[in-house]
Amino acid sequence: MIQPEETHPPTLAGADPARRDALRLGLLAGAALLLGGCASGSNRIARSTPGVQWPSDASRHADASRATPARNPRDWKTPEPYRGPTPAPSIPDGVTPRSAWAQGAPIPARMDRMLPPQRITIHHDGMDPVTLSSRTDVAQRLEQIRKAHLNRDFGDIGYHFIIDPTGNVWEGRPLTWQGAHVAHQNEHNIGVMCLGNFEVQRPTDTQLSALDRFVAKLMRQYRIPVREIKTHRELASTACPGRNLQPHMNQARASTGTLSYLG
Ligand SMILES: [Zn+2]
Repeated sequence: MIQPEETHPPTLAGADPARRDALRLGLLAGAALLLGGCASGSNRIARSTPGVQWPSDASRHADASRATPARNPRDWKTPEPYRGPTPAPSIPDGVTPRSAWAQGAPIPARMDRMLPPQRITIHHDGMDPVTLSSRTDVAQRLEQIRKAHLNRDFGDIGYHFIIDPTGNVWEGRPLTWQGAHVAHQNEHNIGVMCLGNFEVQRPTDTQLSALDRFVAKLMRQYRIPVREIKTHRELASTACPGRNLQPHMNQARASTGTLSYLG
């Protein structure tokens, strides 16, 4: 059984001088993130099994077809929980791969393997509001978040996917690994983050429609019902994903919303 974990703040008391310096740096980094990031999650211990070989696409599909006969997407009013294989290290079409922006590899020893996805949680980055006008700007922002999360002993950026203001979807932590984005509730949970601070700025229309399309795609792929589409504030005490994004999610999940027909 995999236990969820909490990130515990380090303490300076009783540490030797060198350790104290290191802890101070860690505290500073943590403080920087608290000022500008919403992710909370796992400070993993080494319980993972790096090096596990994934079956080929063909064999995975064969396994999936045996386990769950194909269903018409229009019949998914009451989808069954996804019990298929944990996501393989491939990314959905149109998603910019992690390799396009990350300056370092994930640290497997700090993460758990992802369990079959059964929930999606929506976040904002909660950092200083900025205009991200180019892919280079987005890549730098993602790298900034990744480094802040590494400083919290995460194994990688905490979110699985990130949507920028122009509607591009970026891969974050590979979906082979459990995310670190909701304290104690990361199992089976895909983390999707929209870049921006939606307590103080508004998401763009392009970003919102990209979010809806991408969440719908994940819902279809993993048979996740609309009741399992959550926002961070619905699972924890936080403002995330911000007062200007929460209403959109409420509307999208309502009976007439863009996500409701998926179940
Ligand atoms: Zn959040």
